[in-house]
Amino acid sequence: NKRGTPKPTMAAKPTPTVDSGANPGVEGKKIKIGFSMDTLQEERWQKDRDLFKEAVLALGAEVEIMEANGDDARQISQAETLIGQGVDILVVVPHNAEATATIVKKAHSAGIKVLSYDRLIKNADIDLYVSFDNEKVGELQAKAITKLVPKGKYVYIGGAETDNNAHLVKRGVFNVLQPLIDNGSITVVYDQWTKDWKPVNSLAHMRDALNANDNEIDAVIAGNDATAGSAVQALAEHELAGKIPVAGQDAELAGAQRIVQGMQTMTVYKPIKALAYKAAELAVKMAKGENVGADRKVNNGKIEVPSVLLPPIAVNKLNIDETIIADGFHAKEDVYRNV
Ligand code: BGC
Repeated sequence: NKRGTPKPTMAAKPTPTVDSGANPGVEGKKIKIGFSMDTLQEERWQKDRDLFKEAVLALGAEVEIMEANGDDARQISQAETLIGQGVDILVVVPHNAEATATIVKKAHSAGIKVLSYDRLIKNADIDLYVSFDNEKVGELQAKAITKLVPKGKYVYIGGAETDNNAHLVKRGVFNVLQPLIDNGSITVVYDQWTKDWKPVNSLAHMRDALNANDNEIDAVIAGNDATAGSAVQALAEHELAGKIPVAGQDAELAGAQRIVQGMQTMTVYKPIKALAYKAAELAVKMAKGENVGADRKVNNGKIEVPSVLLPPIAVNKLNIDETIIADGFHAKEDVYRNV
């Protein structure tokens, strides 16, 4: 167990640091991470919270976690609290990609670096971005659905417009759809963002989409499994569930269950443990002033942000056992419970 001081304390000697960042990770002092989360609305965020904490503790550091319940003002004031507590580094899952730029400014004036977790903070000098390749998520969704439905009417139920991931995923979807739209094979008959990723909003959108098209649609691509679930619910109201392909992402238990039941075509599995552990490792390194070796760059409107992007995995009925179940993301008996 590596908890405790990272190295034996060298009595009263000044600590040599690799870089002269404001938070050099003084020997003998535990690194403290502030983790500011937008929400726990989706199942995945509970995994993020628990696994991130587990990883931080395993690294001998500590973490204070706050969750803003989808409220921008609250997320900013919670971040201020963490900054005031003197955390060595701030890890943020932004609710609003633009509004959270304020957090970065405040952290930086206190000499605290900021790691953008899963979602990118825009127009700010963030120090590191650790996420999945979200554009790839959308490409995997659209590739799976266009294989089944190469021609026809598509409905796109996007994520929250205030979340940069929703834009990246949508870009990935349209990377695949656009050539088929251009050659006349596919028409996108409905395309809406889902405010705050709330299923009640996507349910209303899916009902509108069906209504506006006299139920004549051929495929649905949804921003995540929660919005895919409401799309399936709206389809079920017209006895169309299981007849029209639907894509989601997150590999939520409910999504995995719909896949084995034949109600949802695919999901995109993002191994949360890999993300949480990578982010924790790099946060601790950054807090110690060490080089994190980020190999990618993502433009956030202000700078090219050093980034680490993990690969997402497409999951359908055929590979569900060898992916999310083999990985222990969900137990087999839970996934197949109602089959
Ligand atoms: C995440 C998804 C999640 C969604 C809603 C996105 O930024 O990448 O995994 O379902 O937010 O919380």
